[in-house]
Amino acid sequence: MTLASVVGQPRAMDALQAALRSGSVHHAYLFAGPEGVGKELAAVGLAQALTCPEQPGVGCGACPSCLRIGKGLHPDVTWVMPDEERVARGLAGRSDFTGTPSREIRVEQIRGLQERLALRGLESRRKVALIVSAQTMNVQAQNAFLKTLEEPPSDTTLILVASAVDRLLPTIRSRCGKVHFGPLPVELVAQRVQQERRLDPPTAALAAVMAGGSLGRALGLDLEVLAQRKDIITRFEALRPDNALPLLRFAEEYGASREEAEQALTLLTLWTRDVARVRAGAGGMANMDLGELAQEVAARTHETELHRRHALLERAQGALQRNGSPRLHLERMLLDMLMREVR
Ligand SMILES: [Zn+2]
Repeated sequence: MTLASVVGQPRAMDALQAALRSGSVHHAYLFAGPEGVGKELAAVGLAQALTCPEQPGVGCGACPSCLRIGKGLHPDVTWVMPDEERVARGLAGRSDFTGTPSREIRVEQIRGLQERLALRGLESRRKVALIVSAQTMNVQAQNAFLKTLEEPPSDTTLILVASAVDRLLPTIRSRCGKVHFGPLPVELVAQRVQQERRLDPPTAALAAVMAGGSLGRALGLDLEVLAQRKDIITRFEALRPDNALPLLRFAEEYGASREEAEQALTLLTLWTRDVARVRAGAGGMANMDLGELAQEVAARTHETELHRRHALLERAQGALQRNGSPRLHLERMLLDMLMREVR
């Protein structure tokens, strides 16, 4: 892992590498962009470049200093993140905390960081602080952090990684060099998901589309639901208004949890879009291995009906966000779809 190995973010990487080459690295950066697109990897890469004794200004990614940064073990690179995140990453246990681990970065954490930054670097001349999920700093923490930004300790680089920058004080944002990270190209996400999760190409492509250009989200998708993709679609298309039993079973199976129901709805939304594309004679199906079924459904389904399906899928997705039983939401949607089907 080095800065050069961050993929799919050429503009962000060019900006950082140019700053490193010309020795004009800011004292504070805000890495902004959606979850799972490489912001944190880039932050680690920048920290390596700033501290690596082997390849100063580049980062070799292989020396003990570089390796320890990624593991959070470098004495001059301080990580700050919400307690909940530390638990999620296995860096702390739930029992380490008296109450529920906080979802916020608290002011005590920022004070602790300030104490560490006041000390001299132990191994490298430069100290680095990585603030993960910086948008979770509560107001007191942000105000405390602002002091550090206003009077930055010498030889220190602060890197804020944030997915929702509008939750940061404008005064914090304006004092950081901003680096924007966009969604990753779908093909790139598909390729990586295919490698890392051993999916067949159509499933990997679909996972990439479902994740909207976020590799993190694509890797986190429920594999079981994805593996059942063909099943879900073919069973959905086989549902008929005169036979309620398969419909109820469908809702029961895929409505077992909110996550599963959400994924099933996303799959069916993409599928409906595929059918509409086929109907309009356009290419670029997400479910590229189900072309034949898409042709068949397109031939027997009116365009108005496809619009209606789309609207009902969207309504069900909205309903899931609010509350109630996922199974009942699916049932209601399917009944609405089938009972008044326009053909
Ligand atoms: Zn190194």
